[in-house]
Amino acid sequence: MIDEIILKNSYQDSVIESYDKLKELINHNPDIKLYFDHKEGLSFKQIINLDKTYGPFWTPAIQSTNKYAHLSCIRSNICDDSCQCIKLEGFGDTLLDKGLTHFNQNKMSSIARTTSTQIINEWLYLGKLFFSWFCSPSPIKVRQ
Ligand SMILES: [Zn+2]
Repeated sequence: MIDEIILKNSYQDSVIESYDKLKELINHNPDIKLYFDHKEGLSFKQIINLDKTYGPFWTPAIQSTNKYAHLSCIRSNICDDSCQCIKLEGFGDTLLDKGLTHFNQNKMSSIARTTSTQIINEWLYLGKLFFSWFCSPSPIKVRQ
């Protein structure tokens, strides 16, 4: 879906280049799609800090591509304030609106065909969670 949103909208070249880098990382580790900040993006500095807080996830995924293994930040897991390392840019505040437009313009069956099983399962999980919190049967009317 993001591919089509990028094609139909005018994003800066830097965002498109970041998206290409993100897709490459996703090819090595599909779970990245679940944790990437699609709105704001992520810098390698943030990625290193996330791994320090929550355990290794991003750094091994980045190292597995061998494309960024030469960066001292990735090798040492230390990113200081002078670091000029890579940022994967996000798609901005309007990504959700653009996504909703995409959903309204396409049949759900065609969207489901182009969506990975992993993402469909995540949507089903979230749907069940929201449904259990916000939906209930009508109250039973007691006859008197
Ligand atoms: Zn860095």
